[in-house]
Amino acid sequence: CSFAHFGFDDQLMKAIRKSEYVSPTPIQAQAIPTALSGRDLIGIAKTGSGKTAAFLWPLIVHILDQPQLKPGDGIIGLILAPTRELSIQIYNEAKKFGKVYNIHVVCCYGGGNKYEQCKALEQGAEICVATPGRMIDMIKMKATNLLRCSYLVLDEADKMFNMGFEPQVRSICNHVNPLRQTLLFSATFKKRIEKLARDVLTDPVRIVQ
Ligand code: AMP
Repeated sequence: CSFAHFGFDDQLMKAIRKSEYVSPTPIQAQAIPTALSGRDLIGIAKTGSGKTAAFLWPLIVHILDQPQLKPGDGIIGLILAPTRELSIQIYNEAKKFGKVYNIHVVCCYGGGNKYEQCKALEQGAEICVATPGRMIDMIKMKATNLLRCSYLVLDEADKMFNMGFEPQVRSICNHVNPLRQTLLFSATFKKRIEKLARDVLTDPVRIVQ
């Protein structure tokens, strides 16, 4: 499988080449065509598998397919991650690949300045990367509305649950437009994650790294 297989436009291909990635990782080869088709997805994959690009590149394509944002429109893509470190890593990747299209990315994590994060969301962004507790704060502060949000990623879902974020994750899923596409990534797939997948995904494709 090569990157050309995905049908990305020249700008994204250029950004991928600039990253010096030679070919898609196995999770990318399987997950990207599924995500581009609009289907929900369960990806059983660990850190280091290249899963971040597997959900980010299709998100960029998804954003480019949407009408332009108007002031007050909420985010289009929401990515939930368990830790500040992981959310910052995802944020940096999203900025790297989003900047060629002038896609705005905001990162909201616990421990960061709530009011600055809120302001950044209010100013308008297409993508928000957040830890679950802080995203709940942003929803309570009405920093963004999630009606427009049509692409939801739950990254390292097992870790989010192990850290006690299950109620927050479920509550956030309930706030996002139900007509969304949902991608769930987890290193393990035990009962609780299986139950979450049944509750928040629709007819998902399951991909094992
Ligand atoms: P991740 O599993 O998403 O955290 O990615 C692990 C590392 O692999 C990151 O440093 C990525 O920049 C890198 N990476 C992602 N996709 C590829 C690829 N196709 N080829 C080589 N490296 C990649």
